[in-house]
Amino acid sequence: MTANPDKFYDYLIVGQGIAGTSLAWHLHETGKRVLLVNDSSLPSSSKVAAGIFNPLTGKKLVKTWLADDLFPYAQQFYSGLEEKLGVKVLHEASIFRPFRSIEEQNSYLAQTADPGISKYIRPASGQQNVPEHVHAPFGGMEVIRSGWVDLPLLLDKSRDYFQSISQYIESPFDAADLVVSEDDVRWKDFRFDKVILCQGFNARDNDWFNWLPFTPVKGQILEIETEKLAGNQIVNQGIFILPVSDTHCRVGATYSWDPLDWETTDAAAQELEGKLKPLLKVSYIITGQLAGIRPSSHDRRPMVGIHPGNPRVGIFNGLGTKGVTLAPFFANQFTEYLEMDKELSETVNIKRYFSLYFR
Ligand SMILES: Cc1cc2nc3c(=O)[nH]c(=O)nc-3n(C[C@H](O)[C@H](O)[C@H](O)COP(=O)(O)OP(=O)(O)OC[C@H]3O[C@@H](n4cnc5c(N)ncnc54)[C@H](O)[C@@H]3O)c2cc1C
Repeated sequence: MTANPDKFYDYLIVGQGIAGTSLAWHLHETGKRVLLVNDSSLPSSSKVAAGIFNPLTGKKLVKTWLADDLFPYAQQFYSGLEEKLGVKVLHEASIFRPFRSIEEQNSYLAQTADPGISKYIRPASGQQNVPEHVHAPFGGMEVIRSGWVDLPLLLDKSRDYFQSISQYIESPFDAADLVVSEDDVRWKDFRFDKVILCQGFNARDNDWFNWLPFTPVKGQILEIETEKLAGNQIVNQGIFILPVSDTHCRVGATYSWDPLDWETTDAAAQELEGKLKPLLKVSYIITGQLAGIRPSSHDRRPMVGIHPGNPRVGIFNGLGTKGVTLAPFFANQFTEYLEMDKELSETVNIKRYFSLYFR
């Protein structure tokens, strides 16, 4: 059977979360024809995520893996899309970290002697920078080069763009419908050079890649309406408080492993409120709650690459808790690997797990 050349695309990209969207943009920019297929009735972690990018995380103020490379690249990618799509999605905002005690203040301030850390901290951070609506009796420090990306808006506008050039299809995808041969990949009436699966948590059920060590983590956030807040600083102490307007914040997030479902729970709301109340000085009401599943991997690194048994099938997954910063950088690396024969970092290449496939 001869395939209709009009229905040929270079890549079938399954899933239009931040993984599939970033990869689609990168391949599109190199002149490749992609077809994105996505089922919007399925839950998506990218639609739940707060979208924060934060170079210094955790109680111990640890610098995010590859921050010096990932952050500038992500900022350039999102601001480039703002221009193309005509919307604001990248919101730069510092992160205020209240000190829990004098000991913590001393230990954090000592860490700022490290130039790798100090470049991400506003000099002379201290009591004078405490946002009016935050309890911080010991003062705090301000992390910079941080902010958040409006992922739902970015995904909606990207979908509209690819739809307008006939490169997006709203449809469920069943891997059993894929016909992969030596010459091409076929799905429905379409023919492709390769298929890349970007299904987030749902990839676990996919026969092609269910041998990869997915270690998903459920997370929940609250939406709150507050009295008018002074400033757009994100607050981070055990939880984050992200002002998306001067009276609306997202508060999160929880981490849980059982059950792995997309249901919100009262226990999570109570856990978040338990941390929110001592931090926030102004009154608030809860207006919503969302749950999602972070597609994490066993070693907490992305899972990117080509199937060990079939060079036409690939995956872009494992973005875990940091999809906003990981997706653009590794979509670029994957595109260069696919199209320019460049190296894919061993740390993210699924080759590191091939022994699980062959055992
Ligand atoms: C509560 C919470 C807070 C978070 N906060 C942050 C944050 O502040 N910053 C940050 O960087 N990251 C955050 N994350 C993590 C972030 O959400 C993920 O890293 C990222 O969204 C993963 O993107 P993805 O594209 O791999 O998966 P997803 O966003 O889940 O996308 C997968 C897509 O594939 C589609 N799909 C799947 N299967 C099929 C099928 N069979 N047929 C058709 N379509 C299919 C789905 O519809 C979906 O659109 C958070 C996550 C959670 C849960």
